[in-house]
Amino acid sequence: MEKTMNWNELGFNYIKTPWRFLVKWQDGAWQPGALTQDNQLTISEASTALHYGQQCFEGLKAYRRKDGGVNLFRPQENSRRLNNSAKRLYMPEVPEELFLSAVTQVVKANEAYVPPYGSGGTLYIRPLLIGVGDMIGVQAAPEYLFTVFCMPVGPYFKGGLTPTNFIVSEYDRAAPMGTGAIKVGGNYAASLLPGKEAKEKNFSDCIYLDPQTHTKIEEVGSANFFGITKENQFVTPSSPSILPSITKYSLLYLAKNRLGLETIEGDVYIDDLDRFTEAGACGTAAVISPIGGIQYKDTFHVFYSETEVGPVTQKLYDELVGIQFGDIEAPEDWILQVN
Ligand SMILES: *Cc1c(COP(=O)(O)O)cnc(C)c1O
Repeated sequence: MEKTMNWNELGFNYIKTPWRFLVKWQDGAWQPGALTQDNQLTISEASTALHYGQQCFEGLKAYRRKDGGVNLFRPQENSRRLNNSAKRLYMPEVPEELFLSAVTQVVKANEAYVPPYGSGGTLYIRPLLIGVGDMIGVQAAPEYLFTVFCMPVGPYFKGGLTPTNFIVSEYDRAAPMGTGAIKVGGNYAASLLPGKEAKEKNFSDCIYLDPQTHTKIEEVGSANFFGITKENQFVTPSSPSILPSITKYSLLYLAKNRLGLETIEGDVYIDDLDRFTEAGACGTAAVISPIGGIQYKDTFHVFYSETEVGPVTQKLYDELVGIQFGDIEAPEDWILQVN
């Protein structure tokens, strides 16, 4: 198997790996789950996930270490976040033990698909919780499926971190006290058209402002925003409609405890971008995407450079990626060794 994969040509595409984990919630309890080779789900046409968006998901990665073993990065945080999403959408929670067992089993069963150390590739893991069963009324589903599947993905930036440009959207991705803070498909459905319109104008994606006042940055596409100030502060927005990025909270910790920056979670006004010498978007998929510039109405604001990553952003990236691949000592409980 490993011989037939071209690790250097991996993008972010669905690849059917041999094994996935599937478990059903039925009669008020999680039933015994199992690994399966079947990548098709057969569900009722009246499933609430299809009609009423009763579904949520997670995204995390497995990393091949230099010694050949495999690391998971803070999977307990993904478990906690999935359960916050489940609560908000009135779905049963997935016990942490079940979540971690499912993820671990899937990684082990597909271990040949974890890209080699040094290739920059990782195994992307997608846990998914959906409401299923016969239910046409707007109510919680009678049954649920929790599944975890995975696929090898390439590094987001093949030739090193490269800044890209973003444009502020006039659309909102979520309501002020709606579902912005949970990882649900509906937020993504709402972001497809704004994202396409941004790309048509040659931007990587759009920036969403806070839905209440449209004056503060909330999200960068489907990633969190951070900026570095002249005073060496790491600043990231706080709001009840931002998805709490595990990457962002990890960077906050590293900025403070390893790079000695002051860290601030607070308002990031779109009219006050001059305070930042560097800016970036962060999330599991890319880790960090440096932001070259932001188009807001008629002005284009450039941060560090449109072509080069800033030094603090690069340091943060190197520290986090070093920890994920096991080359740099991790803070306690950040790494779960699968192998
Ligand atoms: C998943 C996600 C992120 C990134 O979260 P990570 O835990 O860092 O992967 C950011 N914003 C949105 C909207 C997301 O769905």
